[in-house]
Amino acid sequence: MEIDNKELEEMLTFLNAACDAVKDCHKAKFTCPICGSTAHVVKSRYNGHRHASCSGCDANFIE
Ligand SMILES: [Zn+2]
Repeated sequence: MEIDNKELEEMLTFLNAACDAVKDCHKAKFTCPICGSTAHVVKSRYNGHRHASCSGCDANFIE
């Protein structure tokens, strides 16, 4: 199986930016490191899981 390293790197950068944005809150906007658009991230009050998405480049992740 071939892994696209660039894509993986971008997702990790996106993930880190999202985690940083909700470090001290439960809901935040941040600048998408991949495309520069505004992305949103929400952290669950119950289990701390995060859900982030960017409307500009369709990057997203759910923990
Ligand atoms: Zn984006």
